[in-house]
Amino acid sequence: MSAKLLEGKPIAGKIKEDLKQEIQSLGEAPVLASIQVGDNAGAEAYVRSQKKNAENLGIDYQLHKLGDDTEEAALTEFIQKLNNDDKVNGIIIQMPLPAQIDYKKISRYIKPEKDVEGMHPANIGKLVFGNAKISPCTAASSMELIKASGVDLYGKEVVIVGHSEIVGKPLSLLLLEKFATVTVCHIGTSKAGKLEEHVKRAEVLIVAVGKAGIVKKDWIKEGAIVVDVGINRIDGKIIGDVDPEAAERASFITPVPGGVGPLTVTMLMKNTLEAAKLQRAI
Ligand code: NDP
Repeated sequence: MSAKLLEGKPIAGKIKEDLKQEIQSLGEAPVLASIQVGDNAGAEAYVRSQKKNAENLGIDYQLHKLGDDTEEAALTEFIQKLNNDDKVNGIIIQMPLPAQIDYKKISRYIKPEKDVEGMHPANIGKLVFGNAKISPCTAASSMELIKASGVDLYGKEVVIVGHSEIVGKPLSLLLLEKFATVTVCHIGTSKAGKLEEHVKRAEVLIVAVGKAGIVKKDWIKEGAIVVDVGINRIDGKIIGDVDPEAAERASFITPVPGGVGPLTVTMLMKNTLEAAKLQRAI
């Protein structure tokens, strides 16, 4: 079997068409405020892509650049200012941050209604109760890719490798909402020598670890749907966490690059629209 590619761009394109229409019908452009602390090539690239996507959709993208030496107190104060600005609908803090700033601590100062990354404890709480309007972007992208395969998740064996707060954990909650049977693997699973046995059961497999080739071709169940979130830079090339030859056994597989990545920024735009709707009580 040779897997069909689950490419992010065409799926993102369809979602963006709908977003554009809905944003136009709002009358007033949603505003996304982006905070970048210091200069970093990675952050610059994200900002460029976010700005381009926002402008194409009719979202007003405001970039606020703060100095490398900004302290947590000053950043908190800046966030409060954006929280209190009625024109601002969404706030995102660009990564990476300078060493003196603790992202986890600082991101909690963003008002939950303006938390377009979906990482505020209040928004994670809504995920647990199954009524989240704003979900963490990478987890939401993975769900869109799975949806595009056409699979009915009800009762399916779904295995997630990686239990980070931005991908594995929120994704497990989104999948439970669909009544999938979810197994979440992590470093403990690998150390116990059980990763292979769990992956081999997966009808749907999502891998978000950041270790190239951690999932071997032979571990893939015949016909499985595989979402590879991992990004690894090896010899100047970007590759995923799953052996690319897994495509010979899977029914659907995401390419790396070109799978999850292009959808993640689209989910950020979707969350910005949701935030604007929440604030305007639409
Ligand atoms: P983290 O480092 O936060 O999480 C990695 C997870 O993998 C942790 O749960 C870790 O467990 C687990 N892990 C580490 N080693 C093993 C192992 N040997 N066996 C099983 N599990 C293991 O990374 P992120 O979640 O932020 O990102 C994961 C990958 O996804 C990265 O490559 C990142 O670049 C990519 N990514 C891609 C995005 C996209 O848009 N395409 C967006 C976000 C991330 P423990 O914590 O217990 O060690």
